[in-house]
Amino acid sequence: MTLQRRRFIKSAAITAGAMAASRIANSFEWSFDGEFPLTDLHVHLTPTFTIDNVMEIAKKTGVQFGIMVNPGDTVHDDATLKQFIDSLKPYPVYCGLQPMSPGWSKSFSPETVKQLDYVEMDPQTIPNGNAYGETLRIWNFDTYVDDPEKFMDTYMAHNLEVINNPEPLNIFGWPLFLPVCIARDYYTLWTEKRMQIIIDALKKRNLAVEINDMAHTPHEKFILMAKEAGLKFTFGSDSRNQIAGRLDYCKSVAKKCSLKTEDFFVPKRKLSKI
Ligand SMILES: [Zn+2]
Repeated sequence: MTLQRRRFIKSAAITAGAMAASRIANSFEWSFDGEFPLTDLHVHLTPTFTIDNVMEIAKKTGVQFGIMVNPGDTVHDDATLKQFIDSLKPYPVYCGLQPMSPGWSKSFSPETVKQLDYVEMDPQTIPNGNAYGETLRIWNFDTYVDDPEKFMDTYMAHNLEVINNPEPLNIFGWPLFLPVCIARDYYTLWTEKRMQIIIDALKKRNLAVEINDMAHTPHEKFILMAKEAGLKFTFGSDSRNQIAGRLDYCKSVAKKCSLKTEDFFVPKRKLSKI
C-alpha cells in the first residue's frame, strides 16, 4: 500500500506519458515511445540468436520481448513444449507458441498450453491455395498466384478458418499480408468489405491484431477500423536476429493511428525487471 502510494506521488510530479510508464514499470522497466509501450512479442531464437542476444537488446533499448516457437521444430510434444517454457523462465520475457495450422493442440496437454503467455497464429500457410492444388506458404517470394481475385476468396476463407478455429488463440499475426506477386495491388485487393469481415471475426473471438514490423502490415486504415471495433494490438518483428525490437514501422503507424497504452494486448503474467 505504502509502496503504491509512494509510486503515485512520484508519478504525479512527472508528465502524463511518464506516468503511464511508471504504472507499468512496477514490474518491468518498459521503454515508451510517446504514448505506448515498446514490446516485441514476435521473436524466434536460433542457434546463432540466443536468449542472451535478446536480453542484450532488451537491456540496451528497454524493449520488452516475447519469444515464440513454431510447433514442429524443436517443440513437437508436451515434454518439448514444457522444456521450451522452462528454458525461458529465468528470463524476463514472455513465452508464446506460433502454430502454423489448425489442429495443433492435439500434440500438447491443455495444462502445458496454459503455461504459455499467448498463442499466435497467422493465415500464411494456405492448403489448396491455387488452381494447381498447391499449399501456399505466402511468405515465400515464389508463391504462385494464378488468379488474384480467386486467391483473395481462398485467402479470406482461410483467414476466417484460422480466426474461428476453436483452439486457444490470443493474437492474429501477419494480418493482410499478400504474396509478393500481387502485393502491388494491396490497396485494391483489400476492400473495405473484406477488411470489415476480418475485423468482425476477430472481434467475435476478441483476438489482438499484430502490427507486423517485417511485412509493414496492416496499414493505417485497417488499424483505425480495428481500433474503432475495440480490438487490441501487438507489435511483432518476426525476427531471428539483431532486427528484434527495432519496430520502426510499428512505431510510426501506431503514432499515425494515435494508439495508446490501453489499445495494446499485454500478457497477464508480470515479468521481473531486467
Ligand atoms: Zn514467427
